[in-house]
Amino acid sequence: MDLTAILPIPDLMAAKKLVVFSPHPDDNEVGAGATIARLIAQGCDVTYVIATSGQAGSEDPAISGEQLAAVRKEEQVMALEILGGGRIIFLDYPDTQLQEHAAELGRDVIRVIREVRPDFVMSPDPWLPYEAHPDHTTLGHQVSTGVIMAPFALAQPDLGPPVPSPSIAYYGSAWPNTVVDVTSTFEAKLRALDAHKSQFGPPLGPQLMMYLTLLAQEIGREIGVERAEPFKVLTPHHLHFNAYTWQA
Ligand SMILES: [Zn+2]
Repeated sequence: MDLTAILPIPDLMAAKKLVVFSPHPDDNEVGAGATIARLIAQGCDVTYVIATSGQAGSEDPAISGEQLAAVRKEEQVMALEILGGGRIIFLDYPDTQLQEHAAELGRDVIRVIREVRPDFVMSPDPWLPYEAHPDHTTLGHQVSTGVIMAPFALAQPDLGPPVPSPSIAYYGSAWPNTVVDVTSTFEAKLRALDAHKSQFGPPLGPQLMMYLTLLAQEIGREIGVERAEPFKVLTPHHLHFNAYTWQA
């Protein structure tokens, strides 16, 4: 069944107002940094929502969680500046424990969507096979739910007046349906990743940069460009009671 004939996939690059939800400071850059930079360059208004403080992201026992959280906040601010700038909302949930705060997080998601009124949101794909990090699956699920709940006036009316559902672009999806040419902004993505010094020092950082570069080249070949980023883009209608969404 060709679902796209009756339910077309919206054009991510036509987004005017985007909210990008991230489990940790750095995921947005890894998953979608070059596309975000392209959107900002063409005038798209971008808001980041960083769910956790990322205070568990170190193998160094000498640094405290509070210290690391403060460092990572600065790194995140710098990284978005490099991509072109935008607003950042830090929700400050405890790293690795988002699952235990899912209901509260879900309310935050609806509140932000109703306040900012985006036409597009982004998040990690919670249906990624083999995704073992609960912060990623929890956030992806809560953002997906928030997308379909945003227009229901009687669903959590205390979280703001209803707004039209935005479309959603999942980064890190196993079934992408949209490939964005990011040849012009890929260097900015690498510089933004480099701003996350606490996460991407040697040897992991250089390895990750090389991996992401090769991946972007590989995906770029599919559409005949030098570098690209993949997304699974869906409308709210794909997100409920739709047996064909996995093929969309
Ligand atoms: Zn993460």
